[in-house]
Amino acid sequence: MKKFLVLMFLLMGVAVWGECPVIPVEIPPPTETAVHYYKSGNILWVVKALWSLILPAVILFTGLSSKIRQLARFLGRRAVWTFIIFIILYSILVEVVSFPLTYYSGFVRLHEYGLSSQSFGRWFNHYFMSSWIEIGTSLIIFGVLYWLIAKSPKRWWLYMGLLMIPIQIFFQIVQPLYISPLFNKFGPMQDKQLEQNILNLAEKAGISGSRVFEVDKSSDTKMMNAYVTGMGSSKRIVLWDTIIKGMDEKELLFVMGHEMGHYVLHHIWWGILFTSAMAILIMALIFLAAKFFLKTCSRAMGFTELKDVASFPLIILLYSFFSLVLTPVQNLFTQMEEKQADRFGLEITHYNHAAATGFLKLTKSNLGYPFPGTFYMLFRSSHPSIGSRIEFFNTYHPWCDGKPSHYEKYFKSSDDS
Ligand SMILES: [Zn+2]
Repeated sequence: MKKFLVLMFLLMGVAVWGECPVIPVEIPPPTETAVHYYKSGNILWVVKALWSLILPAVILFTGLSSKIRQLARFLGRRAVWTFIIFIILYSILVEVVSFPLTYYSGFVRLHEYGLSSQSFGRWFNHYFMSSWIEIGTSLIIFGVLYWLIAKSPKRWWLYMGLLMIPIQIFFQIVQPLYISPLFNKFGPMQDKQLEQNILNLAEKAGISGSRVFEVDKSSDTKMMNAYVTGMGSSKRIVLWDTIIKGMDEKELLFVMGHEMGHYVLHHIWWGILFTSAMAILIMALIFLAAKFFLKTCSRAMGFTELKDVASFPLIILLYSFFSLVLTPVQNLFTQMEEKQADRFGLEITHYNHAAATGFLKLTKSNLGYPFPGTFYMLFRSSHPSIGSRIEFFNTYHPWCDGKPSHYEKYFKSSDDS
């Protein structure tokens, strides 16, 4: 009897885990609305990029920045208070003049395309809170930066880049525990059967004691998403309630397999290291460029040293410019990680067909554009194109031919545990 049960279990296992031969899913052309959303999104991206350069440039070269610093010095007297007041005044000014663009892109546009379910009140409340959180974050990060510039005028860029490692770890820990819950309710999963299936999959991925959270994103958006975040005790997988409602169980389990891939392949750590390396490069470029600007334009700018807080818009301008130029490097890096996670998700579930049908649902709910152009892929997309991902789900299944999988070494069979 026991043997019979084991055999039945194994057969069921094959039926559950196997989808061979894989039935490919056809990728339909994007709807007219999706094409429009894609094209207008490209224009909006360019407008925002230009705005992020023009605004600090105007504040800098009209001498407005040095005037704000004079006011901050008058109000604050001591250097620390001058710095704090300057950053707050500057941030408020930028928020106010950027408000039409923020309001259009974050509220009006999403409602026009039927992607948002936020009331204006809820949107404004989130906007207001996140602006203050951003100001607080700026005070910490730029406080450290200006302190380093004053202490080590020649090497601050290197030290700041290195400090980005602990700073990012700090935010990885704090964000899911204290910041995200200010905006949405995070709770345990409602569907206990689904939760158990996810935990079984996590066990197979070698992730023990993992936490899966459901978040009430349906009060903000009609889009679907899931992600992994946090570090140590704040490490977790988060599912938007919209994705739980929109996808069936196999589709969701593939998405979970993908997220577990990020986990097991340590993508959060790689991301921190990559961002810190990029930060060192960007800071070095800012260091060199700032020298040039201080030599040639200090009269128009109204300050002569970088340690003067009036140089803040100069640092912001150069940061925006260099990070814009390096955006493709950043995106190619995350696209590579996403490809790895897709492969991991397929290998651990073998749900090729469900992965593809799930992604069609994702395309529909998020107004995705299956095969975007090069500009979009280099500058706007942190993920591979949705079309190429579905093509991968249709065609990648070495297990159907009895061939080994790439990430097999990470998987635990139920008898090792
Ligand atoms: Zn991912």
